[in-house]
Formats: sequence, C-alpha cells, structure tokens
Amino acid sequence: MSELMSKQISIRGISGSPGICIGKAYIVDREGVNLIKRYPISDAQIPIEIDRFKQSVSKAKNDYAKIIKSIDKAIEGNIDILETHLVLFKDKMLYGKTLDTIATDKINAEWALRKVSRRAKAMFAQIDDPYLKARVNDIDQVTDKIMSSLVGAQDKKISDINKRVIIVAHDLSPADTSQIQLEMIKGFVTDKGGKDSHTSIVAKSLKIPSVLGLGKATVNVKNDDILIVDGSSGLLIINPDEDTIIDYVERQIRFEAYRAGLEREAHLPAITKDGVALKLMANIELVEEIVAAKDYGATDIGLFRTEFLYLDLKRFPTEDELFSKYRELVELMAPHSVTIRTLDINGDKVNPYLSVIEEANPSLGLRAVRFCLENENVFITQLKAILRAAVVGNIKLLIPMISCVEEIIQVKQVIRKAIFELEREKKKFNRDIPLGAMIEVPSAAIVAEYLAEHVDFFSIGTNDLIQYSMAIDRRNRQVAHLYQALNPAVLRLIKMTCDAAKKKGIDIVMCGEMAGDPINIPVLIGMGLTNLSMNSASIPVIKNMIRNIDSQKARDSMGKIMTLNTVKEITDYLLNEYKDILPFQGADGTI
Ligand code: PEP
Ligand code: MG
Repeated sequence: MSELMSKQISIRGISGSPGICIGKAYIVDREGVNLIKRYPISDAQIPIEIDRFKQSVSKAKNDYAKIIKSIDKAIEGNIDILETHLVLFKDKMLYGKTLDTIATDKINAEWALRKVSRRAKAMFAQIDDPYLKARVNDIDQVTDKIMSSLVGAQDKKISDINKRVIIVAHDLSPADTSQIQLEMIKGFVTDKGGKDSHTSIVAKSLKIPSVLGLGKATVNVKNDDILIVDGSSGLLIINPDEDTIIDYVERQIRFEAYRAGLEREAHLPAITKDGVALKLMANIELVEEIVAAKDYGATDIGLFRTEFLYLDLKRFPTEDELFSKYRELVELMAPHSVTIRTLDINGDKVNPYLSVIEEANPSLGLRAVRFCLENENVFITQLKAILRAAVVGNIKLLIPMISCVEEIIQVKQVIRKAIFELEREKKKFNRDIPLGAMIEVPSAAIVAEYLAEHVDFFSIGTNDLIQYSMAIDRRNRQVAHLYQALNPAVLRLIKMTCDAAKKKGIDIVMCGEMAGDPINIPVLIGMGLTNLSMNSASIPVIKNMIRNIDSQKARDSMGKIMTLNTVKEITDYLLNEYKDILPFQGADGTI
C-alpha cells in the first residue's frame, strides 16, 4: 500500500497489561454522553427542543419501568433505588428546571440538562444529611439515562457482547473490567486510566492486552475499525497497513511463545543462583482466580482484595455471605496461607450504592480503613466473617491504608468488639491470626518502626505508595510519567520499611505491582525482601528473573543504587547490569 493512501494512525498510551491483539473495534461507552456540545436555538426552535426533551424523558422512564418489572423481587434494595429514580425523572428540580432553562437560556436540551443537573448536585452535596447527600448519585444516574436517550446512544453492556472484539471505552471501572468474558474480548483500550490502576490490575489477571490513558481513543476510533493493541508497549494502532499487520502477527507469535515458555517453568522453585529462596504469592480479587494463581506457580495468596464482592452486590454483604466466600477461599488454598485484606473502597473503587459522600479527592478521602472506622458495623461484620473462616484455614488479616499508629490501635479495638460479639453469639472462630498493616502511605513508612510494635507483619503496597509519595493520581494519564517505582524517594520509603521490619523482627511482604516488574527484582532482593505477592500472571516472568539473579550481587549493588539521584540513572544502571537476563523486549523495551 502506498504511504499516501495509508489510513494508519498510532496513539501512544500507557501499558495496562502486556500482550498483543489484532481485531475489530467495539465502542462501549455511553457514546456522545461525554462530548455534549452547547448550541443556541431560535425562539421558533424552543417548542421543538422542549418536545425532544420530553420524549427522551418518556423513553428513559419506559426503559426503567421495564427494568423494574424484570427484576427479581428478592433484590428489593435495587428496586427501591430504581423507583427513586423513576420519581426523579419527573421531579420539578430536574425536569421542570431543564424545561425552563431551554426556554430562558435558548439552548439545546443536552446543555440545559447538564447545567441543571450540575447545580442540583452541587446543592445536595452541601447538605449534611447523608440520605440527601446520596441523592447526588441518583441525579447523576438519571441524568445519564436521559442524556443517553437524548443523544441516541445505545446502552451497551460489556457482559452482553457476543462477538470477538476489542473494546474501546472512555473509561472502564474495575467492576466493568471484571465482567469481561474472555472468549469474547480480545483486549481493550481506554481514554482514561493510568499504570497500576485497578482496571489495569484486573486486565493483567485476565491476561488480555490493554492500553489505557489514550486520551481520545473513543473519538479517533469508529466501530469495526481494525485495531492493533500492543499492551506491552502501550501503543494503539488504528487501521494498520498490511505491513504493520504482518509485523504485529509475528510479534504476537513471539510473545505468546515467550509467555508459554515461562509458564512451563512456573513450577520450578523461586531460588536465586546463590540459593536464596523467595516466596512468590498471588494477588487476587475473586475466589475463581485461585486455579490460575496455582497454575502460575503461586504458593500462597499474598493479597485477597475483598472489595469486589461489595462492588458486585451493590449492597453490603451479610456476615454469612462473607464467611462462606472466605471459607471457600481458605479451604481451596489450605494448608497455604491467604492474606485477607479488609475493605478498601472509595479511592478508585467506588460504588455509587455505597458511597454517600461526594469527595473532591477520593484517593485522599474516606477510603479503606478510614471508611471502615467510620462505618464500624460494616467493619465488624467483615472482621467476624474473617475470624470465623480462620477456623478452617490459614488466614492473615491485613488492614489497608494505615497512616498512623492511632489507626492501628483503633482497628485493634474494633477487632476486640468483633470477638466479643462472636463469643456472645457462641460462634466458632479463631482469634490467633497474624495482623498486618499495609504500608502504602508515606507517613506509615516513616513511622514504620512505631507501627511494627503493634502488628505481626507489614505488606508494602507500592501501587499506592508511589501514588501518594509522588502526589499523582494513579488513574490520571496526564501524570503517568511520574508514576515511578524506581524513584529514589520511593526506594527510600521502601528501604525504611524493610529496615524497620528487620529491626523489630516482624515479617514483611511486598504486594504492590512493583514486585511484578522484572527490572525491580534486583533492588527488592537487594533490600532483603523475600516475600513477594503480585498479579499471578506476572509470577512466571518474575520467577525466571529470580532464578538468574545472584542475591549477593544484588545486595552489594544497593549501596551504589541508593546514591543515584534520578530514576533514569537507576533504570540505566539496572538495564546495564542485568541486560543479559531481563526478559523479552517489546517494541519500546518493555516486556
Ligand atoms: C497497593 O496499593 O500497592 C495495593 C496492593 O493495593 P491496591 O492496588 O488494591 O490499592
Ligand atoms: Mg493500595
């Protein structure tokens, strides 16, 4: 094909999960909803615009009524919410005001609706009453529904997709991503999102290539366009030329062969060349992932993220529901350990049904243990379920986002309350389980020595530790270049934590994605870390790296590494020292 006729466009984003796929685009976003335009209308157009708005509301209302009819009566909580929405469709505040705004401002219905909805949300957000605050989400959802019907968008659900496609979306929540059916979805790309966001973590565990943070993929790509997703290099190619397709088919074959080779070796021990044994564990979100974790060679579950059960249910689960999930999990893993992390919602794992407050900075807000301490009943319910499951298996209890000593002391008080309730209810439970603090906030790393007095182990969560120490939102593509695991500041915080654990004689694990990137392994071994937990799909490549490393050399080079000032100097040093054993290089050097 001649260069002039080429329609090929390449857009660089952020690698969400490695691998290459080639296929047709399927746009799933609420098309157009994010791209609302304002345009003036004439006096004569006002009644037409008003009529268009009324018809869209009627259509949205009818859709809702159909959904309510089809819902299982057992899930009454959901029906209540939908019925609240039905009332909102014709509420004066939203419906009446939008009609007025179309006429008085002489603007199109979409813009009028957006203006009215923003004002209403701002008003509710200021109210102290939590029930009324929760109406912010209801307004959002009703507005979205009317807007979709106004712009003629179809509601496409990921779980409904029935052809082999590549998803193109403005954004996918971790819950959306977990609905992906592997036999249907080859890969996905999104406008938003950053490295080690929860969306990328779920994509890695599904082993489908993804590129995030592309900015305008949903604008540049049309349905059925041919796409190449190079998840290893973070590249999206739209309408590739024939030569590019041939090149990428070859790369895809090489990558699959490389991955298959590693997976064949997944069951060899994780021992360095000079005989230091490491424990490689898996981070999982769903019980169903255990089989894959074992296949990839994980010995234990080093992090079980419990929030997905809450997100999927759209309400708080009961103690028995949680207990039966946890019991299933620990039984499947017995006699190996399962580290259950208590609820870490808010931040980027928000559920509109659970989150009552609109926060300007959710990652700095009432997230994780802060949410649990504020909502003690929710916390106690979960703790009771964990303590009960500990009767049948080997559980460790991990608390996320600890930022000071007072918090861990408070957590221990709540654990005592959970124990008291279990005793009163005469339920079987096991109180002798190790308690750990996640070290993922810089303040916790700095006072790690004090925290060590109160817990049995630390688990370093680098996904958040990097986010908080570099002051960057891990989902924000604009600042993704500052998401630097090997930044000297991050390394110092990790080292402080390792040194504190060693001095106080407590166990230490790293469970952030940093542990799943081969280039970081010499540094982690050099700091004395021997327990690493990661996305299970990363275990084979990390095992291979460990088996080629000399731990003494890694320890000796720490002195030098800790004197280097920039992430580039550190990366260059490691690339140079370990060039012979670093794995398969993608188009731009990433695996
Ligand atoms: C982390 O922050 O490193 C971590 C493991 O937790 P999450 O990714 O769930 O925030
Ligand atoms: Mg975290």
